[in-house]
Amino acid sequence: MSTVEQQLDDLEAQITSELPSDISVSSVKYEGPELVVYTRDPKKFAQQGDLIRQLASKLRKRITVRPDPSVLSRPEQAREEIMNVVPEDAGVTDLDFHADTGEVVIEAEKPGMVIGRHGSTLREITKTVGWTPEVVRTPPIESSTVSNVRSFLKQERDDRRDILEKVGRQIHREEMSDDEYVRITTLGCCREVGRASFILSTPETRILVDCGDKPGAEGEVPYLHAPEALGAGPQTIDAVVLTHAHLDHSALIPLLFKYGYDGPIYCTEPTRDLMGLLTLDYLDVAAKEGRSPPYESEQVREAIKHCIPLEYGDVTDIAPDVKLTFHNAGHILGSAVSHFHIGDGLYNVAFSGDIHYDDTRLFNGAVNDFPRVETLVLESTYGGRNDYQTDQADSERTLKEVIKETYEKDGKVVIPAFAVGRSQEIMLVLEEAMRSGDIPEMPVHLDGMIWEATAIHTTYPEYLRDDLRDRIFHEDENPFLAEQFNHIDAGEEERQEVADGEPCIILSTSGMVTGGPIMSWLGHLGPDPDSTLVFVGYQAQGTLGRRIQNGWDEIPTSEVGAMGGGDGRGTLSLNMGVETVDGFSGHADRAGLENFVKTMNPRPEKVLCVHGDERSTQDLSSALYHDYDMRTFAPKNLETFRFL
Ligand SMILES: [Zn+2]
Repeated sequence: MSTVEQQLDDLEAQITSELPSDISVSSVKYEGPELVVYTRDPKKFAQQGDLIRQLASKLRKRITVRPDPSVLSRPEQAREEIMNVVPEDAGVTDLDFHADTGEVVIEAEKPGMVIGRHGSTLREITKTVGWTPEVVRTPPIESSTVSNVRSFLKQERDDRRDILEKVGRQIHREEMSDDEYVRITTLGCCREVGRASFILSTPETRILVDCGDKPGAEGEVPYLHAPEALGAGPQTIDAVVLTHAHLDHSALIPLLFKYGYDGPIYCTEPTRDLMGLLTLDYLDVAAKEGRSPPYESEQVREAIKHCIPLEYGDVTDIAPDVKLTFHNAGHILGSAVSHFHIGDGLYNVAFSGDIHYDDTRLFNGAVNDFPRVETLVLESTYGGRNDYQTDQADSERTLKEVIKETYEKDGKVVIPAFAVGRSQEIMLVLEEAMRSGDIPEMPVHLDGMIWEATAIHTTYPEYLRDDLRDRIFHEDENPFLAEQFNHIDAGEEERQEVADGEPCIILSTSGMVTGGPIMSWLGHLGPDPDSTLVFVGYQAQGTLGRRIQNGWDEIPTSEVGAMGGGDGRGTLSLNMGVETVDGFSGHADRAGLENFVKTMNPRPEKVLCVHGDERSTQDLSSALYHDYDMRTFAPKNLETFRFL
């Protein structure tokens, strides 16, 4: 008998002895990080509201209770009874019964009303029908990503349970090593921006944190084949943790499955959906540009199947000696500062991922309050000594000025933007500016994946800034549903019409002008001196965006590609105005990064400054060392640090 089985037997005995004698336990299983307790008396369990919480704190495990399949009422009957319990205003759009696990997934427009105060309605459902309810939000704007991910996971349910059971056994295996150390190996994004990837290792466990590509630099990937990484075989990695969905952190996660990895990916639920959207688009863009991508859509599906979503604040066992907790990072939807607690009080490491320290229109500022942290791995995108951004209110004023001036010339404003994050921030600025009369009302066209990414934002309002979340809950105030927003969904013909038409604003991917429909807009409007190209986000070295920013105005048509109308010969004259309005970045600026560290509770002993060019990481590292008396480093790629 394996030790995990012994452990489960012991747990079953312990749980049985803790429960009142009229509640029976039929089996106990691990599913991923959770302990699932099957009972023949789910209704009695639900009647004693506090029982699960008490068990969870006693056993220090995340516990889910499910009915033994033998006691379930028929779905048709349960459906009727559930609809009687749930208030009509909740707007239930779908009920999906899974007899194998006794779960019923309830999709509703207002999930809060299905949950009830402190979960009271959920308990009422179980008390009435015995099934275990799970609630998901009906997207207020239809999202093909959300519905595809949900139906895919439904279809793969059996596979997924096998995966979760296997992961559960991995997590709860017996610790084999008496040695104690914690190491971090840098596989990318050191003294550069892009291809974020790290290995966090202990004698027992190896965790890969992020696995991104490098925009503008074809074929460059993290040093995945280093002996510390996949060099020892993909099966030696226990878990992958994804801080957020931007491609410079997520693009090569599916590649791991091509290499034979088949373990879990921990991320938030919106990160899972956004990763699906962005990696599929990454494949699409590569195909359109005639490049052969490193993996196929099959591997994206594998990655999604292996995601274990966690919410902010959930303390989760991900290995015998590692607990992971995500906290809001304020950067993009679902982005997470990832905190690792190693051993029983042995050591703590926090990876910032990308952060924004102050509140923005979209998100609350990054969390920097932890029970303990000895080492912080900190992004340094704007860590340079002069990397101070304009105050956002000033930036908004400048943007509105540029829009007004362009409008008066009868021109069009083209804004290259990341689909995820800055686009929605700019949408909120434009919606308010038009509503308050600061700028004239005009159509705002959303091209590329911006519309879809916006729909995903409205599916997970819990991850947005408090007041924005409240507005989305009230449908008539949802700013993303404002009528000036138009989804460019009819391709080149529609673009031509817009380009020939009235003054307007165009938000288009890609954010660094490295491909996608922005190329087409350059082709249409680049020669027009009355129009304006406005950069609102970071332009990495080597990207076309950076070169245009630096004054390049004769662009070889080979650069703009077929989408920009290029035939590979001659040049495109860029006559349109070019403006840069910073201050909308999803990244903390130098002051924000310093404030994040300065006000961090507790103050870390060591800081690794990563994810910034050479100058930024070194500047930030030496400033933190001088000002806050901590050990700081600006590592290169492929360095290993030993802590403890
Ligand atoms: Zn990012």
